[in-house]
Amino acid sequence: MIIHLTAKPGSARNNKTGSWRIEKKPKFLQKNCVACKNCLIICPEGCITGEEKNTFNCDYDFCKGCGLCAVICPKQDIIMVSEE
Ligand code: SF4
Ligand code: SF4
Repeated sequence: MIIHLTAKPGSARNNKTGSWRIEKKPKFLQKNCVACKNCLIICPEGCITGEEKNTFNCDYDFCKGCGLCAVICPKQDIIMVSEE
């Protein structure tokens, strides 16, 4: 009997990984963003969208609160805030 314990690569988008968040979530300030796309590239969930300066945001249904986007942002335009 074979038991599949792992998900197929790239399947995270099919699961609402936002339920994994424990304490913090990112807040995109949209004030000093230079549209470098570092946050979009580093996000392991691929849940950040944006094109122009100060338009980047994330989909909280999929954001798991890892904080990588806030760490990588060169303009400190993403902060981690408490879940309400
Ligand atoms: S905290 Fe940022 S990098 Fe991490 S999953 Fe959420 S949006 Fe993506
Ligand atoms: S990392 Fe910061 S400056 Fe770069 S696109 Fe994301 S929010 Fe904007």
